[in-house]
Amino acid sequence: MWSRRNYLVATVGVAALSGCTGDTGNGTTEPDGEEEEGERPEGVSVEEFESGPVPDVYMSATSLGNEQRNPDELSSKSDVGFSEYEEALENDAHQPGTCCANCADYIVDKNGDTFGACVEVEGYIDGADWCVIYEELPEPEVPEGMSEAELATAEVPEEYRTASSQAGEERNPDELQSQEAVSLMESVDAIADGPAQPGQSCGNCAEFIPDENGDMWGACAKVEGYIAVEDWCTIWEHVSEEA
Ligand code: SF4
Ligand code: SF4
Repeated sequence: MWSRRNYLVATVGVAALSGCTGDTGNGTTEPDGEEEEGERPEGVSVEEFESGPVPDVYMSATSLGNEQRNPDELSSKSDVGFSEYEEALENDAHQPGTCCANCADYIVDKNGDTFGACVEVEGYIDGADWCVIYEELPEPEVPEGMSEAELATAEVPEEYRTASSQAGEERNPDELQSQEAVSLMESVDAIADGPAQPGQSCGNCAEFIPDENGDMWGACAKVEGYIAVEDWCTIWEHVSEEA
């Protein structure tokens, strides 16, 4: 599959990236697809975890792909072959590297319990889960007057330069790492090829600054250039860790 950032992978080498991070998504990889009691948020029953309702903050929230959740139009987890990533590897419909954290339907954690929700599926959803209606995030277009190669080092639009990330970290344009230094690539490729753990993407990273001007590009409080929600890099940090 062609990737707009394959040039970075080619430059750094995927093998050299392996082990660059000790992060593990949020550590919920039970092989049988069922969360053990200690892995559910405190006070949430098995039934609530599987079928909802989810906390109010998610009820009609917006997903990574900008779709709004309608609590009256959701599928059950069993109807969509919902599973954890390790189990999804056994499913013929699963494409390597795909998981909720890089699905257009995913709603990232908003209350610090590490779990998110989904605009299509009921219950609590971990970034490292997956289901058969997985939807690829739309690829942002290269902004007018810019080449694809320039995205990695371009100065971001004014509204992002000193913006706060989704976990509240302020961006300092004079203290950023290059995309090459942190091996920025697409999350699906990073998970499929090894350096990233299932459940990791810029979309659920503490440093991500979501799109503010409608061009589908965001920015990062730690890394220079244009950043897409489906990207990933070696300094990824779960948004809950800063909540
Ligand atoms: S993979 Fe399925 S459960 Fe996960 S976010 Fe996408 S649609 Fe929802
Ligand atoms: S994964 Fe890397 S590039 Fe993406 S938001 Fe986090 S720190 Fe920034």
